[in-house]
Amino acid sequence: MSLQTTLTAALHRRLSIGLRCFGLSVSLSFGLSLGLIASLLPGSAAAWGPAGHETVGAIADQLLQGSHAAAQVQKIQLSNLRTGSVWADCARSVALLKGKWTYVVDPKYKAACGIFETPASEALMVDFVRRNASYCGFMAGHTRCRHEAYHFTDISIDQPGYSPQLPGAAPNDLVQAIGAAITVLQGGKSPAPFDIANPREALRLLTHYIGDLHQPLHVGSVYLDDAGKPVSPATDQEAKDHSNAGGNAILLGSIKLHALWDNVPDKLSVSLQAGAGATEARQVQPATGPITQWPTAWASETVSQSAQVFQGLHIGAKTAAQPGSSAAWPATSDEPAYRLARENLQHAQLVKAGARLAQVLKAIWP
Ligand SMILES: [Zn+2]
Repeated sequence: MSLQTTLTAALHRRLSIGLRCFGLSVSLSFGLSLGLIASLLPGSAAAWGPAGHETVGAIADQLLQGSHAAAQVQKIQLSNLRTGSVWADCARSVALLKGKWTYVVDPKYKAACGIFETPASEALMVDFVRRNASYCGFMAGHTRCRHEAYHFTDISIDQPGYSPQLPGAAPNDLVQAIGAAITVLQGGKSPAPFDIANPREALRLLTHYIGDLHQPLHVGSVYLDDAGKPVSPATDQEAKDHSNAGGNAILLGSIKLHALWDNVPDKLSVSLQAGAGATEARQVQPATGPITQWPTAWASETVSQSAQVFQGLHIGAKTAAQPGSSAAWPATSDEPAYRLARENLQHAQLVKAGARLAQVLKAIWP
C-alpha cells in the first residue's frame, strides 16, 4: 500500500470516527481526495453538539452539590462539570498543520468551546493532543492511535458484555480511557498508552467519557455483511472488514445512524438539566464492588442496551462508494415508534450517566 493510500485510508477512518460523540452530528461525504480531506480536518474534528455531555455534567453537578467531591471539582478545574464536559471534544479541533499542532477555531462550535478559546486554554488542548497522538509513528493520524479512539469501543451486540479481548475492543478504547482517568484522579500515574498529565485533564476527560459510555453506538455495534445481514466477528480483522464505524456508515436517507443517536432533543436536555435529571438519577442503582470494575460493568450494560438501536431498523445491502459518497448501508426505520424508543433510551442513558459520574467522583473524594 502506498503512503498516500495508507494515509487516505487512515484519514477516511478518522473522518468517519471523528463524528462519534454525544451531541449533534452532521453527514460528511467520503471518497474525497487527500487534499480535500486535509482541508476538512479541522472542521471534522468537531462535528457534534454539546447537549448530551452538558446534561450529564449538569445532573452530576446537582447530585454533588455541597459535597467534598464538588469542592474538589471546583478546586481542580475552576468550573463545574457541565462546563468541563465538552473539553475532550473541543480538543478534537487540534490539528497538525505544517508539522505544528494547532487549535483551529470553528465558528460552528463557539458556543460549546468558546470558553476554552484563550491562548492559555488552547495551549492545554494542544499539549494533550500532542502527548496522545504520538504512539504510532507516521500513522499517528490514525484514529486507533490517537485520543479520538478514547471516545468509543465497538463490541458486537451479540456479546454478553465488554471484555478488552473482544474484537472491536482496543487498549486505547473508551473503557480503558475511563480507567486511566480514574487512576490519575486517585493520585496514580497515567497508564500507557494514555498520557494524562494532571487531575484537571483527567477530570475533564472522565466527565466526557462517562457520557460517551452511555451513548449506545459508542459501545455496541452490529457488524454487517454486504447484504446488510449481521455477522459475528471472531477476530479484529473480521471486525474491521464488517465495521460500519459505530453506525456512521448506516444511512437513514442522508442521516447517519450515529448522528441520529448523538442528537439529544432540546426539550429533553433542557428538562433534564433543569432538575428532572437529578431527581431521576437519585433512583439509579449504585454500582457495587471495586471502582476498577465499574467501567466494564457499565460498558457491558450499554452493549445490551444498544441492541435496541437495531430494533425497528431495516438495513439494506451495502451500496458501492460513489464520487462524493462512501460505501454505506441504507436503512429505514419504523416511525414514529423508532423515534419514541430512541428518545426514551437517550433519556434513560443520560440519567444513568449523570448518576454514575457523581458516584465515581464521590468514591474518589468521599
Ligand atoms: Zn466523545
